[in-house]
Amino acid sequence: MKRIAVLTSGGDAPGMNAAIRAVVRTGLDAGMDVFGVRKGYAGLIEGDIFYLSRRDVGGVMHLGGTFLGSARCQEFYTEEGRRLAIANLEKQGIEALVVIGGNGSQTGSHALWKMGYPVVGVASTIDNDLEGTDVTIGVDTAINVALEAIDRLKVTATSHRRAFLVETMGRKCGYVALMAGIAGGAEVVVIPERELAPEEVARELRAAYDRGKSHALVVVAEGARNNARKLIKHFEEHSEAVGFSLRVTILGHVQRGAAPTAADRLLATWLGEGAVRALLRGEQGVLVGMRGNHVVTTPLDEIVGRQKPIDLSLFELARIMAQ
Ligand code: ATP
Repeated sequence: MKRIAVLTSGGDAPGMNAAIRAVVRTGLDAGMDVFGVRKGYAGLIEGDIFYLSRRDVGGVMHLGGTFLGSARCQEFYTEEGRRLAIANLEKQGIEALVVIGGNGSQTGSHALWKMGYPVVGVASTIDNDLEGTDVTIGVDTAINVALEAIDRLKVTATSHRRAFLVETMGRKCGYVALMAGIAGGAEVVVIPERELAPEEVARELRAAYDRGKSHALVVVAEGARNNARKLIKHFEEHSEAVGFSLRVTILGHVQRGAAPTAADRLLATWLGEGAVRALLRGEQGVLVGMRGNHVVTTPLDEIVGRQKPIDLSLFELARIMAQ
């Protein structure tokens, strides 16, 4: 295999740049030409494909986001759109595509593979909801950003005996909220996989207040039915049920833009290298991920349409720690 391309797709995740760099430098080291695609599948359909040299991927590893750009692309859901994408790749003699992205993006890469085009996926999303890997590129940074905010909010909360409600990203998946909640010592965690009614959240906060706590913290994922907006509305009308006075902080996109942590840069480097090595071995239609400190590949067939479940026993750990 002599010519490959790489793109980033879906929500940007810290570490994507390090993954692109690893694909390019491993490919060049193996004697390949490596091409970048701008704006994910949208750029593939437009034919926005260009040669990448070793120097083109210098000075990007420490930056969040993706220098190739990313996009959500409706046209790629259609067979016609994907046929155009394949034609653009073949026009440049490109023999395989590395797709760095999350669940949706790998569903897209699987659709391309099903049409006969060689692809390898690299697991990258701040949601960590992909099967076939213990951890995805970007999630460690997202947890750390949430944690930094939580730590600061705790300091001010203690000074005023307040409770803070912190909303993290996570439309369908509460992994970041749960992990940041445990690491940050949250009293309550609310995620789509384990919903809590406002009354239950209030009960937990009141109990923490009655135990003499000087502050309390609720971490809630944006995708929870009772997200920050809903909870705060409820508590405005039932402030007496909580004990603490309550403030809300919605972290939103600051979680995406941060500089990747060392863990994310290393993971991205291993998985990016792993994608090229998989292609060199003749593997296609697989996702490259990390399992128990080993870079592994899993057929995309086994991954698409599934969401990696959260270990709900962690709630028991969170409960004990919050006493
Ligand atoms: P994240 O969840 O981390 O934000 P993601 O990779 O899951 O990222 P999505 O928006 O779900 O992001 O998907 C990115 C793109 O992948 C879509 O805009 C679309 O172009 C393509 N895609 C998703 N699902 C499919 C599908 N079933 N068939 C073809 N293409 C798809």
